[in-house]
Amino acid sequence: MRIARCFVLWLLVSVAWGLGAPADASAADRPAPRTPARQAERNRMLDVIRRYGMTDETVLRAMAGVPRHEFVPPAQARSAYADTPLPIGHGQTISQPYIVAEMTRLLRLTPQSRVLEIGTGSGYQAAILAEFTEHVYTVEIIEELAAEADQRLQRLGYHRVSVLHGDGWEGWPEHAPYDAIIVTCAAGQIPPPLLQQLKPGGRMVIPVGPRYAVQSLMLVEKDLDERFRSRSVMAVRFVPFVSERTGADR
Ligand code: SAH
Repeated sequence: MRIARCFVLWLLVSVAWGLGAPADASAADRPAPRTPARQAERNRMLDVIRRYGMTDETVLRAMAGVPRHEFVPPAQARSAYADTPLPIGHGQTISQPYIVAEMTRLLRLTPQSRVLEIGTGSGYQAAILAEFTEHVYTVEIIEELAAEADQRLQRLGYHRVSVLHGDGWEGWPEHAPYDAIIVTCAAGQIPPPLLQQLKPGGRMVIPVGPRYAVQSLMLVEKDLDERFRSRSVMAVRFVPFVSERTGADR
C-alpha cells in the first residue's frame, strides 16, 4: 500500500515536471542545459529585475529561459546572473539584464514579429528575442564576435537566429521591413537606413548620445502614415556604434 502511494507520488511529480517544460516548438527542440544551481541564480536575477519595476511576465519568462552564463567568458561565469554589464572581449560588453529586459519589453514582440538587432556581441539579447519569435536577424561589426555568437547560438539550439558580420549602420535590407529594431550600441544619430527598414506600425529602441558618456535610450515609433514619433525612455551607457569604413564613431 505504502509502495503504491510512493509510486503515485513519483508519477505526479514526473508529470508536473513534464508540464513545466517549454511549450513552444523552438524551445522544445533545444538541449536544455539548466542546472538547479544556475536556475536559482537566474531566479535571483529575475527578482532584481522585478524590483526595478518589470511586470511583463512574457519578458520575465524569456529572461528565465536563457542561460546567461553560456554567453559570458569563463572568467565572468560566476557573475553571469548579477544585474550588471560584463566584458565579453574586444572592449565590448554584454548589457545589464534589467536593460535587456526593458528594451525587449519596449519592442512589444509577438511570435510573428520580424526583429533586427544591431550589435550582436555575445548573442544574449538575440537569444532573448528568439524566445518570442523565430524571425531574428542580428548584425555585428567585429568579425570574431559575430562568428563566436553564431556558433554559440547554434550550440544552444537557437537555429533560427541569423547572424551577419557587417556594419549595422546599413541595417540588413534583404530581410526588411522589420516590426522591431533594437540597437545595442550608442549612436550619435539614428541611422537613416534603420528608419527606412522599420515597418509602418513598427518600433525601434536605440541609445543615442556621445561615446562613453550618458546617452538617452530612445523609443522611435513609425506610424501607418510613415511619420516618426520618438521619446527618451531613460538614461543609459552603451559602448559606441562604430563605422566599419572609418573606424570612427557614428
Ligand atoms: N547585444 C549584445 C551586447 C552588445 S555590445 C549582447 O547581448 O551581448 C555592442 C556591440 O555592438 C558590440 O559587440 C560592438 O562590436 C557592436 N557594434 C558597434 N558598432 C557596430 C556597427 N556599426 N554595426 C554592428 N555592430 C556594431
